[in-house]
Amino acid sequence: MKDRSHSLTSFSTYLNKGFDLRLHARQMSDARTDPEISPASVFLALLHAFAFRLPSFQQLDAELAHSYLQHWIGAERAFRDDTLRYSLCGFDLEPLEHMLVDLNRRLKRRKAFEAGRVQGHLVAALDGIEVLSSFSRRCENCLERRVISKDPAGRRVEQIQYYHRAVGCQMIHSPVKPFLALEWLRPGEGEDTAALRLLSRLPRLYGSRFFDILLLDALYAQSPVLDLLQQTGWEAVICLKQDCRDLYQSAVGLFAHRPPDVRLTEQRDYKTYRVQLWDTGDTEALPLTLDNPEPVRVIRSEEVLERRCYRQGELTTQQTDQEWLWITTLPAQAFPAPVIRRLGHDRWKNENNGWMDLTKHWAFKHGFLHACRHRPKRTNPSGERELVPNQGLAAVTLILLIAFGLCSAFVLRHSKLARRDQLTALAVATQLHRCISKAPPSVRAPT
Ligand SMILES: [Zn+2]
Repeated sequence: MKDRSHSLTSFSTYLNKGFDLRLHARQMSDARTDPEISPASVFLALLHAFAFRLPSFQQLDAELAHSYLQHWIGAERAFRDDTLRYSLCGFDLEPLEHMLVDLNRRLKRRKAFEAGRVQGHLVAALDGIEVLSSFSRRCENCLERRVISKDPAGRRVEQIQYYHRAVGCQMIHSPVKPFLALEWLRPGEGEDTAALRLLSRLPRLYGSRFFDILLLDALYAQSPVLDLLQQTGWEAVICLKQDCRDLYQSAVGLFAHRPPDVRLTEQRDYKTYRVQLWDTGDTEALPLTLDNPEPVRVIRSEEVLERRCYRQGELTTQQTDQEWLWITTLPAQAFPAPVIRRLGHDRWKNENNGWMDLTKHWAFKHGFLHACRHRPKRTNPSGERELVPNQGLAAVTLILLIAFGLCSAFVLRHSKLARRDQLTALAVATQLHRCISKAPPSVRAPT
């Protein structure tokens, strides 16, 4: 019987042939002068750490010392996690972003986004992502918030928490759901400002036709965002919350006196959704806000979710009422209300290869890179030596997104084994990791 396990060779061949991994690795650079260990080795070490789902830099340090990894990535000699940190804190972000863009363009060219198109359209989503938080460590780019908690005696304690947050844009309709780009929130600014920056950068990175429809949260339901979408030519579906003021009121008012436009029942797993949909269509579109009378199409959904579950040994049905409201720029004829509902439901957030999966199963501990003062120096315009800006967190996150895209493509598009044996991405990662530990020790002895 043939070996039923993935080999590291097939993984590497796929990445090198399909995505020019080694070529990209050679483009990497950092702020060190004449380093013994190249930025390419640092990049490849971390990329493999993510591909194997190693939990921390300490674990990567151990792998570099005791497994075949150092030889596999072609590192100049053995190196430790202090080299990784020193390099990453001053890592150049441009080649990383360039690689992420190139990877996504290749995926598109090879039709990775064909499956799951919605009425023939490609769908991306914007979402806020929190990368780390701390009560003690802070850096010059930290965001701050007040957090109320209780001390062991039950007293109310207010503390300042430092954190980092970004807005990510991710393809979401297809089985492979790579991130296209990420924009960090700067101290003192809102998520909407970072989102606007991201949206204006995307056409420069990918061209405006890379996807067609953008899914957004209520947070982004504002005129500058909608204006930008219109200029770029992207259609939008925005999920509104009930507190979305004027529009919510007028939609509820308009729909209150008429029967639903569509009734449907949807069965998924052990859940049944009984859905009633109201749609303004294109003709009854409502003004977005009092300040912005631009009419938008509004869809409202009243849903009863029935869940069959066992309670005290007996099969029972639990019922929950849900209400949803979306606005969209999509025309009613080509995109009837049930399609907008399917797009707008935040189901995609819960799928197992979105950001949820990244934070849960790819939770590489890199918090100490944050506020790291052990980093290279440079000479500033007034001739003084100063630390280079800390890029550690941004660099590690970009490498994570690259690894996520490459590994998803390998598991979902390339591997016949994963399909045949119905392996999860995590199981494939474990198999790949096993190859490195059982392989013979490096032939290049550490110097
Ligand atoms: Zn910070």
